[in-house]
Order: sequence, then structure tokens, then C-alpha cells
Amino acid sequence: MNKWIITLLAVLVILVAVFMGVQMVSKQRTQISQNEAQVQNQAELSDKVTDECVEEWKEMEEDQKTAALEANAEEQIKLSPNCSFLFQKHYTKCNHTTKEYTNIPTTLVNQNQEEVAKHYPEWKIEKWSANEVIFSQELAGECGEHYRLKEIDGKIVIYQINSNGQEEEYEKTEIATDYLTETDKIHLANGWEVNGKQELNQAIEDFE
Ligand SMILES: [Zn+2]
Repeated sequence: MNKWIITLLAVLVILVAVFMGVQMVSKQRTQISQNEAQVQNQAELSDKVTDECVEEWKEMEEDQKTAALEANAEEQIKLSPNCSFLFQKHYTKCNHTTKEYTNIPTTLVNQNQEEVAKHYPEWKIEKWSANEVIFSQELAGECGEHYRLKEIDGKIVIYQINSNGQEEEYEKTEIATDYLTETDKIHLANGWEVNGKQELNQAIEDFE
């Protein structure tokens, strides 16, 4: 009788062990398949991201193409008879920029950028539109428009400063210094420096 019980118990233990073993294996399998699903998910996700990047890239390419087309279209703009030309010279030694405005030469009316550029080989076109064109040029020297205002015998005299730093009389004005403010008088006594014709004209206008 005892022998039978022991045998039964042994069989039971074996059965339980086998059952548990099966359970563990199946659990592991589920985990593995879950991991696989995750990996797949990630792959899909990265596919999607790549797709988005491609989309963005395509958009960027489109934008670049549009910009190039627009630039090309801009170059094709023809100049109106009222167009003004602005020539800007930048002098690297004194870091001044001189500006000169002119009206469009009649021969250039209705011309596009390429045609006009041929007439100004030493100039770079900074702005191109039907009513205004800005040309620019970089030069190594000084602008040559450095002035100094001084008071001589009660009147303002304009001196031009040459590239050696020497003063040369430029113009004797009829502007009396009597009515200037004390600050202006001190400023003049020290030599009032002005750069560019525009600034000079403005200074003279302010005194008058
Ligand atoms: Zn200068």
C-alpha cells in the first residue's frame, strides 16, 4: 500500500514538474514574440520617419527650384523709363561708402539684368527692380571726401583732407559763426570733421 502511494506521489510530482516546464517555455515564447513585435513596430516607425524626411527633402528641393525660378524671373524684369540708378562705392581704407544717384540712360530702358550688366562690367548688381537698380563696387583706397570745417575770421571755411592727412582749402563760406551755439563754436575750434558730400551739405544747411 505504501509503495503505491509513493509511486502515485512521484508521478504527481513529475506531472507537476512537466506542467510547470511547459508553462515556462510558453511564457518565454510569448516574450520572444512580443519582442519581435516591438522590433517590427520600431522598423515601421523608422520607415515612417524616413518617409517624412524624404517628404521634407522633396519640399526643400521644390522651394529651391521655386527660388531659382523666381531669381531668374527677377533677372528678366525689364527697366522702366523712370528707373533710378544708385552707385555705391565702398572704400576699404576709410570704410566709407559714397552714393551717387542717376537716372537710367535711355538706351537701357526695357533691358533685362544680363543686358545692363554688360554695360557695367566693374559693378556688382545688388538690387534689381523695374524702378531701382543698385550697383556696388569695392575699392582699396580712401573715399576722398573727408572734410574739416573751421572758423576763419568769423566765417566757416571748409577744408578737404587729402590721403596724406593734409588740409587743402575747399570752400570759403559766407556763414558767420557769431550766431552759432557755444557747443558748435567749440566743435569748430577743434576742427569739425565731416565725411562725404551728403554729410557736408547737411552740416552747411544746419549752419545756415
Ligand atoms: Zn572716407
